[in-house]
Amino acid sequence: MFYEQSCIFAEFPLDPCDPLRGNVDALTKLKKDPTTRFIVIKDGEALMNATEESRPIYLNAGEASIYLKGEEVFLGRDEDDLAYFALSGDMPEGADGVFIDMRSIARNATAEGGFSPIPSLVARGKMLLDWHNRHRFCANCGAESKLIKGGYVRYCGACETEHFPRVDPVVIMMVIYENKCLLGRSPSFLPGMFSALAGFMEPGETLEEAVRREVYEEAGIRVGEVEYIKSQPWPFPSSLMIGVIAHALNDDIDIGDDELEEAKWFSKKEIQDVLERGGNDDFRVPEKLAIARHLLEYHLMLRWVDDEQD
Ligand SMILES: [Zn+2]
Repeated sequence: MFYEQSCIFAEFPLDPCDPLRGNVDALTKLKKDPTTRFIVIKDGEALMNATEESRPIYLNAGEASIYLKGEEVFLGRDEDDLAYFALSGDMPEGADGVFIDMRSIARNATAEGGFSPIPSLVARGKMLLDWHNRHRFCANCGAESKLIKGGYVRYCGACETEHFPRVDPVVIMMVIYENKCLLGRSPSFLPGMFSALAGFMEPGETLEEAVRREVYEEAGIRVGEVEYIKSQPWPFPSSLMIGVIAHALNDDIDIGDDELEEAKWFSKKEIQDVLERGGNDDFRVPEKLAIARHLLEYHLMLRWVDDEQD
């Protein structure tokens, strides 16, 4: 069923080969292997084929040494046993290719219909290299740390501390009450855009507690049952969007002063109509690349199940 479709940036296509990460000799050998593929990341964008923008440019070892300007991370091996690395770098003058941001890569992949694992591949490289760029110094003692384990750890030799790449969990919820769902808009949204409420989890919270706190803070709605639906890696800079259905206990909205400009209940017909006709400045919902869209479609799916039972 369509609601089981993976979100874009999910379904990493490689075997991450964890045991290889700690094997310095094996990684050095792989980096010199003429079949190994290197993707290039620069300022959060990936180097893609200029005429076919959904395809990354895969460099070989010789080319990689010319493009390399920062660090390299090991991504894994594909089903033909080819190894993949991502490197921080730039194109030499006159080379082919175009740097494309992650949202556009995701949009290109969804525009073609079906599902592509390429956004997941390049986003992982982007998330890891971003983290290395922003964490070159030890948070414990301030000394310069170094990349180890293929890029999945940074090690500080001065205080012998290991640092691990950071992932920020975000809860994103389709709040439902009877047959309607709650969507909100932030001041930064496009005109007419309403989306699922979302927020960062706080230390010590369960998923359910984070959902209940966020929905109450943003809309004054109390949530009872919380139902996990699916998750999505979100490379801005490195989040995990955890998508749930949140069952509301009341429907009187109070948006407070802080986060939202507006929050409203929408009927299933309104949602179905906007999905069918597309959005406009009066009302639009997120594109298919966002997990919020998957949650909306899932919410509609629930209606069809209800109908079948009636
Ligand atoms: Zn240190």
